[in-house]
Amino acid sequence: MLEYAQKLWKNGIISDFSEAGKVSLVVHSLHYGVGAFEGIRAYQGGSYQGGSGRSHVFRLREHLERLLASCHLLGIDVGYDVDALSEACVAVLRANALSEAYLRPLVLLGVGSLGLYSKNNPTEAVIVAWPWGAYLGDRGVRGGVRCKTSTWVRPDPTGALPRGKITGQYVTNVLAKNDAVRDGYDEALMLDTRGYVCEGSGENLFIVRSGRVMTPPLSATILPGITRDTLITLAREDGFVVEERLLTRDDVYLADEVFLTGTAAEVTPVIEVDGRRIGAGTVGETTSDLQRRFFAIVRGQDESHPEWLTEV
Ligand code: PMP
Repeated sequence: MLEYAQKLWKNGIISDFSEAGKVSLVVHSLHYGVGAFEGIRAYQGGSYQGGSGRSHVFRLREHLERLLASCHLLGIDVGYDVDALSEACVAVLRANALSEAYLRPLVLLGVGSLGLYSKNNPTEAVIVAWPWGAYLGDRGVRGGVRCKTSTWVRPDPTGALPRGKITGQYVTNVLAKNDAVRDGYDEALMLDTRGYVCEGSGENLFIVRSGRVMTPPLSATILPGITRDTLITLAREDGFVVEERLLTRDDVYLADEVFLTGTAAEVTPVIEVDGRRIGAGTVGETTSDLQRRFFAIVRGQDESHPEWLTEV
């Protein structure tokens, strides 16, 4: 089981997890999934190669802006702006003396009335933290993962809010992930209702073909990933042509390289999809170059994007 950090932030106050971390069985969000959340990482900076050695939160503002956007999509007024939430995230890290951590802000509807009409329930905002390593495993980040296309389809905008990181929308993703792991794979790839490839259960997807980097556009009902945006920027800076375009399963099967991006998964190479080897079946050169640059940036060793780092 995950070891949560002892202190959390709840509705403006730093409190003990053992007290404030408990919720009632009748919180509205638990029953209907109306809530929004984020996953944010803090990294220990390198004290070598010019890094300060201090801990940094990666792209904190962008994550909190997406949290507020998700709440706006749900019609929830959080009551805290990006600055206040940003201070709260840093306060949680400091209160727990964490230098490498995963932060989980969550906005939920608390105890009021349990009917579907949700406006009579109070809004609660919490930020929990825990120390955390690689999501798909160190082996996955270094050696690559195997994926399977899921039979679970990412819902289209007629029945979902794909731009939002909304708790209830993750049911499909959990089903997809569980099936993939049950069948012996590391991760699921999800299609949209038209059959185009969207993303992993918790990551965006990139392919590399003939030196071009491609990723599905936001119109493919993907979550607008912050790591995706980071990798698009880094790849362009490194001289690659990056295309946001619809990708089919055969585009993925015929790619020279495939990789997944996400706050949890960071930059994880994919070496096999649906039993087909991708490229040489090993981590490709473009993926490892971009991965190296990504890790240097988040650890404060490559100082080309100071605007992405918030010092703790
Ligand atoms: N897609 C889904 C469905 C996700 O849950 C995540 C993780 N937040 C991502 C993509 C990647 O987003 P980010 O890079 O902002 O973590």
